[in-house]
Amino acid sequence: MVRPAGLPSTFKDLLFDLLEVSPVEGLMQDYELSLQHVLWRIEHLHQKKEVVTKLDHGVHRMTNAEMVPRINRLAGALKRLGIKPGDRVATLAFNNHRHLELYYAVPCMGAVLHTLNLRLFPQHLEFIINDAEDKVLFVDQALIPLLKPLIGKIPSVKQLVLMTDTPAASHSEDGLGDMLDYETLLAAESDGYPWPKLSERMAAAMCYTSGTTGNPKGVVYSHRSQFLHTMGVLQGDSLGITEKDTVLPIVPMFHANSWGLPYACGMAGSKVLLPDRFMGDAKSVVELAEQEGATILAGVPTIWINTVAYLKETGKRLPKVHTVICGGSAVPRALMEGMDAVGLRILHAWGMTETSPLGSVARPRSDTRPGDELKARLTQGVVNSGVEIRISDPATGEELPWDGVAFGEIQVRGPWIARGYHNGYDPGKLTEDGWFRTGDVAKITPEGYIEIVDRTKDVIKSGGEWISSVELENAVMSHPKIMEAAVIGLAHPKWDERPVAYAVPKPEFKGKVTQEEVIEFLKDKVAKWWLPDEVRFIDEVPKTSVGKFDKKVLRASAEPIHAGVKEEAKN
Ligand code: ADP
Repeated sequence: MVRPAGLPSTFKDLLFDLLEVSPVEGLMQDYELSLQHVLWRIEHLHQKKEVVTKLDHGVHRMTNAEMVPRINRLAGALKRLGIKPGDRVATLAFNNHRHLELYYAVPCMGAVLHTLNLRLFPQHLEFIINDAEDKVLFVDQALIPLLKPLIGKIPSVKQLVLMTDTPAASHSEDGLGDMLDYETLLAAESDGYPWPKLSERMAAAMCYTSGTTGNPKGVVYSHRSQFLHTMGVLQGDSLGITEKDTVLPIVPMFHANSWGLPYACGMAGSKVLLPDRFMGDAKSVVELAEQEGATILAGVPTIWINTVAYLKETGKRLPKVHTVICGGSAVPRALMEGMDAVGLRILHAWGMTETSPLGSVARPRSDTRPGDELKARLTQGVVNSGVEIRISDPATGEELPWDGVAFGEIQVRGPWIARGYHNGYDPGKLTEDGWFRTGDVAKITPEGYIEIVDRTKDVIKSGGEWISSVELENAVMSHPKIMEAAVIGLAHPKWDERPVAYAVPKPEFKGKVTQEEVIEFLKDKVAKWWLPDEVRFIDEVPKTSVGKFDKKVLRASAEPIHAGVKEEAKN
């Protein structure tokens, strides 16, 4: 904004005017931070690095030197389709090479990449596409069935583009109008695209929160935020990805930008492995990692529960993998130990769609005593440089001390933290002084380790005191016969709410584990009044679209707490 002569535009300017001093400017270039820089590095430094995508049979292999002209062609095709700066371009796709090409072409030409979550219900997809006013939608052939219920309901989408290896199939789809074929579009363009000069504050991408605790809301990333986030996650005390790494992101490219890994790998020059539609298939993922020499894997805890089981069953190991980035929900101790036992070291990270997503990483600090390593790795870690954090008392709003005891809502601020949502939803997410309210409740230790206690919506309020559902379910999951467990608070006439655990026995213990033995097991692990009133056995914990325990679904179908509650448990 141009400052009109004589009119102070900010408080700082006003202060300088009053003091009759003018700030001395540094003499560095006004270099706009943008994703074009990442593309520049791929093109100039990392030409030989490969992007390998798992196919039904074998893999698709491409070097960056082959991918860059395709990105240029894709930008040309987008322009020909009428895409202008600021227009939203949607993707409904797995983690594969075409999706990666879109990750670069769309923002680098000035448009906004909108990654759609393919596990959402049709009505959510419809809401999101209309809210974002997507103009063009790129869809993987295998995901076309998801679009069929949306026919006639997404008027902003003027063009569908089909991504497939067998273009002829694009004409066989009914009801979806004229679909263009991705490869045919690229073939008609040239290898060079005149990338426009971008401003760093322009929108680069958008992603909707997965709606674990409400309606999806659009988070809009800028080039500047993506650039700084990429630099932030590459640091040694953060994810620490380097040129020597081969990275396999199992976290979907529609889940908070695959945690920023596509751009981090591009900036660093890592080889990239993409699992396409096999991301939930432990055997395929392990084979891909083994054959292509993966050194870093990334995914939510549920993925690793299956992977550990598969590795144990087959005796296979992945000795080259030095880090498994794991976040999205708390890592249960049993999982961390189970992964350690098969030689896979979890690096626990915390964040959310609104934080781009990386907020903190659990690398034990240099002064950690050897016996405390595991404890430190199980925390949500230390806030990433670039981000500031505080905890605030939910009742008074007062800032709480970092003493490892007091807990309150995590609030964060920094250049890759959202300041609002698309279309102005939920303006109350920012505090008056500009910090983002995360809705996560945590303690912070004097060393700076964040320990998430719960989400504000999941914490169980029993007799005026709080019970952490997360801590309780971790304790249940450490029972040797239990595979998964989720704990929710259910209404109770005397205590307001009481915890009830929903537990999935390991297959070999189905029908062979009792509520009494689980409660007995918990007695020396949690306070007496935390013991669940009931343990209910189920076949599977319902999961959200991004693989987290869906407590909304559990709550909606939960039977009330049975009568005859054991009163002594709470005294
Ligand atoms: P949604 O909010 O719809 O679930 P996100 O993927 O943005 O979608 O989820 C962010 C939330 O996930 C965080 O606010 C937090 O509650 C939870 N979360 C993420 N990482 C962790 C972690 N390491 N430990 C505990 N909770 C986590």
